[in-house]
Amino acid sequence: MVVAYIAIGSNLGDPAHSVQLAMLAVGGILQTKLVVASSLYESSPVDASGDDYVNAVVKIETNLNAYELLAELQRLESQAGRALPQDRVHVRNAPRTLDLDILLYGDAQMSSPELIVPHPRMWQRAFVLLPLSQIAPELVSAEQLAAVSNQVISRLS
Ligand code: ATP
Ligand code: CA
Ligand code: CA
Repeated sequence: MVVAYIAIGSNLGDPAHSVQLAMLAVGGILQTKLVVASSLYESSPVDASGDDYVNAVVKIETNLNAYELLAELQRLESQAGRALPQDRVHVRNAPRTLDLDILLYGDAQMSSPELIVPHPRMWQRAFVLLPLSQIAPELVSAEQLAAVSNQVISRLS
């Protein structure tokens, strides 16, 4: 089993509900179990228009490899009404019903067109680092938290 951390985000429809459903759905992925989920965090979109985002991070254990895990996460995104990656017009941080990103996959470092792990932008994002540090404080340093402390974000639950 490999420990992985998944970032969940939504800013369309009922985003808090979508994030909570996604936590359950991630725990239901084959050969995967949910270990712990962060609180929900709310923030305004960065570099994009639209409604407020709700974000969270979950810790999982999985027997899937990182590419299999990504495929399962993309299947859940499309079930939530999102176009498959090949059919998307790519706008980073665009409004979406569900976004599932692999932050960390064990201590793997990988970089291909489909998958970069650790997620290359995670350290710039309060909506990732706050929930991650809540459930895995050893993974986020005080300096890393300080670097995103100017970003407005509130914990919902
Ligand atoms: P960002 O990656 O900055 O959070 P985004 O989540 O809005 O942007 P998407 O449109 O959801 O970007 O994804 C674009 C592509 O990113 C996906 O098709 C996927 O193949 C690729 N990708 C690369 N690394 C990862 C990762 N660690 N987790 C999820 N997708 C990834
Ligand atoms: Ca994302
Ligand atoms: Ca994504």
